Amino acid sequence: FGPADRRIQVGRVLEATAEDVEQAIARAHRAQKLWDATPAAERAEILNRAAELLEKEMATCIALCTREGGKTLADGVAEVREAVDFCRYYAMQARKEFGAPKLMPGPTGERNQLSLHGRGVFAAISPWNFPLAIFTGQVTAALAAGNAVVAKPAEQTPLVAAYAVQLLHLAGVPGDVLQFLPGDGPTVGARLVSDPRISGVAFTGSTETAWAINQALAARRGPIVPFIAETGGLNAMIVDSSALPEQVVADVISSSFQSAGQRCSALRLLFLQEDVADKIIEMLKGAMAELRLGDPRELATDVGPVIDEEARQMLARHAEKMEREARLIHRLPLPAGTEFGTFFPPQAFELQSPAQLEREVFGPILHIVRFKASELDRVIEAINGSGYGLTFGIHSRIDNTIRYVTQRIHAGNAYVNRNMIGAVVGVQPFGGEGLSGTGPKAGGPHYLYRFAVERTLSVNTTAAGGNASLMSLREGDV
Ligand code: ADP
Repeated sequence: FGPADRRIQVGRVLEATAEDVEQAIARAHRAQKLWDATPAAERAEILNRAAELLEKEMATCIALCTREGGKTLADGVAEVREAVDFCRYYAMQARKEFGAPKLMPGPTGERNQLSLHGRGVFAAISPWNFPLAIFTGQVTAALAAGNAVVAKPAEQTPLVAAYAVQLLHLAGVPGDVLQFLPGDGPTVGARLVSDPRISGVAFTGSTETAWAINQALAARRGPIVPFIAETGGLNAMIVDSSALPEQVVADVISSSFQSAGQRCSALRLLFLQEDVADKIIEMLKGAMAELRLGDPRELATDVGPVIDEEARQMLARHAEKMEREARLIHRLPLPAGTEFGTFFPPQAFELQSPAQLEREVFGPILHIVRFKASELDRVIEAINGSGYGLTFGIHSRIDNTIRYVTQRIHAGNAYVNRNMIGAVVGVQPFGGEGLSGTGPKAGGPHYLYRFAVERTLSVNTTAAGGNASLMSLREGDV
């Protein structure tokens, strides 16, 4: 059932059992060697074909994202675009890095080379907020590097993930090399990661689940394997008095409320220099009032529902707390037609102190704090002090301020004078530090290495009649 209207059934899912998990890992394990031995260029070709299929079936993909995930149509387009970019980007990287071995320097008489290979079977565990893009990104990275994959989508969004798997199989990924296991965290996810045949985990989701997975991996008696985790953030934006208010407002609106605030990168905490705060808050109210909340299938809709009733209730509890402890700036009314879905109206609060927002609250709630120009260092400290480090934004027209701040903020993705969402594959490699994730960044040039083992090969070429005269030179001769 979709979040926009709980009366409409979108599809049906048969969840994997413990036996299915066991079978999938066994099959993937058997199939991986042949896949790894397949030339990287051939694997890349298959991923490029998957990209073409995703583009061809864009309408179906968007429809699934909208119906099952409550995504607006514009978000659906971006979602498919990103999935396609992941396929092509990792295909290109595989060709470049996993093709011919790299020759290393060494003495004459010896040939040294370094090559990359798949590690084995990767578990790919993904969230509902980018049910196609993140899912496809994790899977294609692991495949590109020569791994087999057992992929578990989020409980809320198995249909679009299943469709992506179908397209990947159609493109030529062997059935056993990519196994699809819909199901919940405890039954499927936890079982997967505690199996010693799993050679690595790519995960995106909450920090709590990342801790649980890390512990499950640590408890295994077997090889110690890579864990690539992308988790949440308490993302901040600083706006000083030199910033262009119109630009600030447009970027704050999209950063906080696009995708109903359900992006890991979304703006949560906006710091406004007090000299311009009243003016910007007034403009923000006006801009918020223009947002269209409603059915994500309508082109005119800016903000759709939140993912499920649990999320809606969590947001409602947080908003109640904020109403007691902070000042409500603006809240959109819930229009007619939203009563059958899990809609939560975008809203903004002004806080006395950033410490009042203790954790990531995943949804369309913006928190605003005023600061004095002389307090800039305290603001930077507060942002870094959260322990998260995902995205950050600054609006200023003073280069020195921009430099000063961006050199001191610990965030994986920083944005200057623009919005702070929508990282593009290969352009803004995405991922945080600290509590926000382990890296390496998805859609970046270092990602695939984490999915690989490295092997060197050193051959004594003199044994087979190499350049023996050079080897026998004495030092004084050269
Ligand atoms: P969110 O808050 O975005 O729902 P979660 O961390 O709960 O984030 O979920 C992200 C993914 O992790 C989902 O696919 C979920 O099923 C999975 N998951 C939840 N618990 C576990 C676990 N203990 N082990 C492995 N995967 C899990």
